[in-house]
Amino acid sequence: MCDVCQVEKIDWRFRTADRPVETCRLYRVYEGREAVVRLCRIHAIELFMIGETRFLETHPLLALSLHNSTKSSSDDSLFAFG
Ligand SMILES: [Zn+2]
Repeated sequence: MCDVCQVEKIDWRFRTADRPVETCRLYRVYEGREAVVRLCRIHAIELFMIGETRFLETHPLLALSLHNSTKSSSDDSLFAFG
């Protein structure tokens, strides 16, 4: 499933038909780290056309979900300095 369609509750099966979902990397979401997102053909093209920064501005729910997933995992490891 496409991550953007999922968070925005778009019927991704209708939009993508039977085309495969692509795995794309975002480099500006986290400092010094890359985020891997799954995008349908439509959102993959949109990312390519408008660039990562504007893509995240256009899809704030995606940015939010990426942020939340990182925060929960980093709370356990990076910031657990007794
Ligand atoms: Zn999508």
